Order: sequence, then structure tokens, then C-alpha cells
Amino acid sequence: RMMPADALVIFGVTGDLVHKMIFPALYAMAKHRVLNVPVVGVAGSKLSLAQLRKRAKDSIKQTGKIDDRDALEHLLSLLQYVGGDYNDLETFKALKQTLGDAQHPAHYLAIPPALFAKVIKGLGSSGLADQARVIVEKPFGRDLASARELNRIALSVFKEDSIFRIDHYLGKEAIMNILYFRFANSFLEPIWNRNHVASVQITLAEDFGVKGRGKFYESAGCLRDVIQNHMFQVAALLAMEPPACQGYGAVHSEKAKVFQAMRPLQPDDMVRGQYAGYRKEPGVAKDSDVETFCALRLFIDSWRWQGVPWYLRSGKCLAATAAEVLVELKPPPQRLFDDSAPADGRANYLRFRLSPNAAVALAVRVKRAGKEFVGDQRELSLLDEQPNEETPYERLLGDAMAGDGALFTREDAVEAAWAVVDPVLETHHPAHSYKPGSWGPKQADALIAADGIWHNPRFS
Ligand code: NAP
Repeated sequence: RMMPADALVIFGVTGDLVHKMIFPALYAMAKHRVLNVPVVGVAGSKLSLAQLRKRAKDSIKQTGKIDDRDALEHLLSLLQYVGGDYNDLETFKALKQTLGDAQHPAHYLAIPPALFAKVIKGLGSSGLADQARVIVEKPFGRDLASARELNRIALSVFKEDSIFRIDHYLGKEAIMNILYFRFANSFLEPIWNRNHVASVQITLAEDFGVKGRGKFYESAGCLRDVIQNHMFQVAALLAMEPPACQGYGAVHSEKAKVFQAMRPLQPDDMVRGQYAGYRKEPGVAKDSDVETFCALRLFIDSWRWQGVPWYLRSGKCLAATAAEVLVELKPPPQRLFDDSAPADGRANYLRFRLSPNAAVALAVRVKRAGKEFVGDQRELSLLDEQPNEETPYERLLGDAMAGDGALFTREDAVEAAWAVVDPVLETHHPAHSYKPGSWGPKQADALIAADGIWHNPRFS
């Protein structure tokens, strides 16, 4: 087993992500008394340590009140700063000096993806990679070729088990519960296949737009930003075979097999949309065709899932902010009661709400009192509104520093997932405009029509 990290280096410590997510996560770790190593920030700005501490404090304040002064002071006392350009080897020398006798540093790359390779090489050539590990932010590549190239560079400097590729979705309670729910229960397995499952839907909706990050979004789009990574990871956890043994290596292998079995997408499997007003956002081209909405029909060509359609959709400026999975079961083989086929969907389904709160529900039909054989659809709530106390970043940084790679993605899986979307990254139909506050362009309904309708996330 890997030694725990004895220093945390944060490349990009003055950036947006660190301000929004990482300082609050470090504060939470300090509160839970699990952060006891130097935290060295590295960025281009000329900043005094006092200024960095102030940034950290402001960041933590903005996410809530500071309720543990000792933890805050402890975190601030751990901070150090190295200013310098990542293109300059002097920066790495200065970092090495600051790290002193740390033997197993964790280098966290919270920097523009274009610089991942540069910094990894810098770590390698300055002797900062020996016995060290690297935590890489998303996105890991922007297509199959660039993901392969980044893997090649990363693996020329670090061993695979020292590379922690972040997909923060995997650190979410509700996503971890999918894995647990599937393999801690026995009733599910007999029906969890093409014989009983009619279709699977996954929706990841946001009711806001690009929030000033238009320039970034122009180079990404919905498919790259959330589908190839977050939504595919959810699909893999739902679709994977039971791992042969305990330990995360087996889970990684089964997930990789799901991506390998996914049929590469074709333009007709995908409906792209763009919310009206997107082209007026700062940083967005006046004639942009970048999709802010994407719906997919996907097939997993495996023994278990052959022929079962998987429908994935995600978008910005939709009617709600929520993520949900709906696994619809086939109807009973015979229609004995007149009312047994609800017009809007199937009698039985399993619903996993992923956010805002984790929930699991099973839909069934039960008879209404009286002499008629008519009934109602009810949901049995199996898990209701679970609070989420640990943020994904607190969990993921803690795991990476402890050397536990279960909630990260592996080289082969990342590349296999890119191979599925690669054919439609550049070759696709134009984006259809949709109204902010709607559920996306109506063309997405046609995509699913042969199998039913989209079910919007529910909150009850
Ligand atoms: P950002 O705000 O642009 O921050 C970039 C950081 O990198 C800054 O600290 C900047 O330092 C440093 N930097 C850039 N070029 C440098 C150079 N040549 N030499 C030294 N330092 C340099 O980026 P971000 O939005 O935080 O994103 C960081 C990573 O997180 C990206 O991989 C992104 O995809 C990922 N991510 C971001 C978000 C988000 O909401 N922001 C969400 C999920 C994932 P100075 O400015 O001090 O020079």
C-alpha cells in the first residue's frame, strides 16, 4: 500500500476552482483533524504568504461561517507559497527547496488543462516525481488522441497507481450508493439485465447558464464537459458486472469493460441544443454552435445489456437543477387490468436521485380500495433525502493523499470512454435552439420516442 502523502502541493492555488472548492475542502479536512501536512501553493502571481492566507480565509467565509477557529488557524499555519511560471524550471527548483525533506508529496494540478503535460514534465525533470503522486483535474484530454497523449506523458513520469484522475462525481454520496446498492442486495441481480430492463435514462440538469465561464465553455460543450466523464461514470456503475473480489482494481476493470462495450456514437444518436441567449454571453462566439444541451441514445453491447437503450441528457438553463437515473422495467407479460399501462411510462421503475440529495425509490402499482381492479402508481422510498456531509473534494483529496484510488479513473477506462464519443465530437448535427427554463429542444423527444418519453427529475 502507498505511503500517505507528507505534503500537498497545489498548482493553481490562485485560481477559480481552488477558491470555490479547494480551500473549503481543506478547511473541512482541518476541522475533521485529518490535515497535518504542509500545503504548498504554486502559481504565477506575485503573492505574499499573508495574501495567500487572506485568499484562503475569504474563500472559506464565502461558503459559510467559520465555526472552528482552531481549524482555520491550523490550516493557515500549514500554507506556504511558491510564485513562478510553470514554463520556468526555476519554479520547480524553488518548490523543491520549499518541500524540504518531504518524501511523498501529492502534486495537485488545479490548472488549465493545456498546462497538465508541462507541469508533469517539470516535476519529472526536477526530481519532484520520485515517490510522489499526481492528482489531475478534469478534463483528462479533449478527445481520444489527446487523452492518450496525456496518459503517455503522465505514465512516463508517474506509475499508474500514483496518478489520481479526478472525476469529482465519483466522490458524491449518491454515486457511491449506486455501487453499494447494486452489490449489497440480492433482489436486484435477477432483474438487472436485458430480460427485465426496458431502458435506462440519466438526466443531469442545471437551471443556470455558463455563469461567466463562456470562454471555457466554448472549448468544451456539454458532451465533453459532463457526459463523457460524469454521466458515463454513472452509466458504468449501473451497467458493470459484479467485481470478482474486493479492492478497487476489480471495480476499475469492470467499469473499463463497460466503456469498451459501449457502441461508438453516430451523429443520429445525438441531439444537440443551445439555449437562446448563449451567444450573447461574454467570451462566446456570435455564431457559436457549441452545445449547452446534449441528449444521447447509447447501447452497451454486452451479454447483460444487448439491445437495451440508454438515454442520457444534460443541459444548462433547463427547468431545474437535479440529476436522476430512471431504470424502467418491462411491463408484465399480459395485460390483465385495463389500467395497468400508464400512458406516461412504465409501471415499475427504480429511480436514483443523485442530486440535490441522494434518494432511491421503486415504483409499483397497488390496487385502489373498491370492487374494481384499478390501481395507482406508488413509489416506495428506499432512501430518502440523505444529507451529504462530506463534500466530494474533501473525500477525494483525502483519498488521494492516503493513496486510495477507488474513486478516481484509470487510464484504460478514460481512453475507452473517449473512444465512445470520439466519432461525434466534430461530426454532428447543428445545435437546436431552446428556451431557457425548458427541458431542451423538442428534437430530443423524437430521439427517445420509440421507447417512451423523458422523465423529468422529481422532488417528492
Ligand atoms: P483558473 O482560474 O484559470 O486558474 C489557473 C491557475 O493556474 C491560477 O492559479 C494561475 O496562476 C495558474 N497558472 C496558469 N498559468 C500559469 C503559468 N504559466 N505559470 C504559473 N501558474 C499558472 O482555472 P480554474 O478555473 O481554477 O481551473 C483549474 C482546473 O480545474 C482546470 O483543469 C479546470 O478544468 C478544473 N475545474 C475547474 C472548475 C471551476 O469551476 N473553475 C470546475 C471543475 C474543474 P496565476 O493566475 O497566479 O498566474
